[in-house]
Amino acid sequence: MSGFFRVPPPINEPVLSYAPGTPERAELKAALERMRGEEIEIPLVIGGREIRTGVTHPVHAPHDHGLRLATCHEGGAEEARRAIANAVEAQREWASWRWEDRAAIFLKAAELLSTTWRARLNAATMLGQSKNAYQSEIDAACEIIDFFRFGAHFAERVFTEQPVSEKGVWNRTDYRPLEGFVYAVSPFNFTAIGANLAGIPALVGCGVLWKPSRSAVLSGYHTYKLLEEAGLPPGVVNFVPGNPSAITAAALGSRDFAGLHFTGSTEVFQSLWRQVGNNIASYRSYPRLVGETGGKDFILAHPSADGDAVRTAIVRGAFEYQGQKCSAASRAYLPASLWRRIRDDLAAETESLPVGDPLDFRNFVHAVIDRRAFDSITGYIARADADPNAEVVAGGRYSDADGFFIRPTIIRAHSPGHETMCEEIFGPVISVFVYPDAEWERTLRLVDETSPYALTGAVFSQDRSRVREALDTLRNAAGNFYINDKPTGAVVGQQPFGGGRASGTNDKAGSAANIARWLSPRSIKENLVPATRYEYPYMGEA
Ligand code: NAD
Repeated sequence: MSGFFRVPPPINEPVLSYAPGTPERAELKAALERMRGEEIEIPLVIGGREIRTGVTHPVHAPHDHGLRLATCHEGGAEEARRAIANAVEAQREWASWRWEDRAAIFLKAAELLSTTWRARLNAATMLGQSKNAYQSEIDAACEIIDFFRFGAHFAERVFTEQPVSEKGVWNRTDYRPLEGFVYAVSPFNFTAIGANLAGIPALVGCGVLWKPSRSAVLSGYHTYKLLEEAGLPPGVVNFVPGNPSAITAAALGSRDFAGLHFTGSTEVFQSLWRQVGNNIASYRSYPRLVGETGGKDFILAHPSADGDAVRTAIVRGAFEYQGQKCSAASRAYLPASLWRRIRDDLAAETESLPVGDPLDFRNFVHAVIDRRAFDSITGYIARADADPNAEVVAGGRYSDADGFFIRPTIIRAHSPGHETMCEEIFGPVISVFVYPDAEWERTLRLVDETSPYALTGAVFSQDRSRVREALDTLRNAAGNFYINDKPTGAVVGQQPFGGGRASGTNDKAGSAANIARWLSPRSIKENLVPATRYEYPYMGEA
């Protein structure tokens, strides 16, 4: 087959509403009913073969301890080594495919997800990660579809970038996938992140060992099955849930380790980076390390800000998906005049948010992911409650009787260095510091210097010169910066996502820059008419 093919121009997948009476709502409810009534077995999948290790853990719904959704087999070092051997072997053929053929598989996966698989992935995400229909739709349906469609488009753009050629010479760039395998390690909070971490290196020709999060293994498994259904050859992506340290030690200890595609906490990423450093002399190539990690995302309001807009940004930005988005607003800096204007409404609105089972579509906030998260988040609330330097303004109540429920909570911290203003809490908790109206410049510096992270941040102001000051002073304080908007909800192709400082390598998920990380270009020079004598003209006699 000959031709320069172009993938269909990508457009963001429309978000379905799930409003009463819509067909998508009926289909989703049916899928939820079906899935909550079946307890499946989740195997590892290595080289296309299902592996049952017999070492298992139960998968429960975070909002309903009594609901057992699956039994998951766990892998260790031995399974990781088998997965690596399969990834390396499968890559030999996979890397030689025309890139359009590889892209076609991911475009097909996107199309299946847009149609017949949509309810299945949404239901798995709602049940396994306690998301409501909307939060699941923007993650497990739309964002995965966008990652794959835009991924194919960005790959095309990268491959099209070719060098100039002088007379008599033809220069080309061969975009080779990394030699070896990519280790993809995904977090619990977005189904789409697992699909992206494993899928994008595979799209450009790498073999992948994918270790999903234990707390998102149900949706992870269905994502793997989607890729299989779309025609991904066996062994290109190997699905290996299991013991994180053992799998990681085997992956990072392999000579063929070529890249890490990680999203999760800063602490874990730093520990992986250290292991890579210790093993550096043993690898075939210098591995690419891409990691998107924690955040302490801010909302900063100027006295000129619109109070309703700030209140809504806090409620949506801090509490949607229980604040378990890396981009969730978790510290706010509000001028005293604005605080006086919005405090009561903000507290009342927060108190009114419906909390409960995501299968009851009237709810807005659901359970946090697991016992460890519940204990850690409620620890912050309990300490703030007992601290004269802080005040719980709304929420502050929690229960783990049926599921891990924590009411959306606003803490007013009387000191900008309070732990709730500095540390990533990763739950439905926002800490507010009220500053004197006259101290805008000082507060800008405070926002910049308070946290080691730099993921997302938002400034609210009706005064353009203050917006400009914030853009300038906070230039390195956030990789995704919002003006008069909440700091969550980045869309692939529109706001490429990632942060700097301790928040990650900022390789921007869903962008051409990320694609380039999984490629090792080869420059090819072809001399069309080669020289046949060594002498240069300057050597001639005058
Ligand atoms: P986590 O760090 O606990 O886990 C992430 C992954 O690392 C999981 O697959 C886990 O099994 C694995 N892991 C855990 N311990 C390990 C170890 N010792 N060795 C090897 N692997 C190990 O993170 P999480 O709780 O799943 O996710 C929440 C974190 O992820 C938050 O810090 C959040 O900010 C961050 N996050 C960041 C982004 C971003 O784009 N910047 C996006 C989503 C989540």
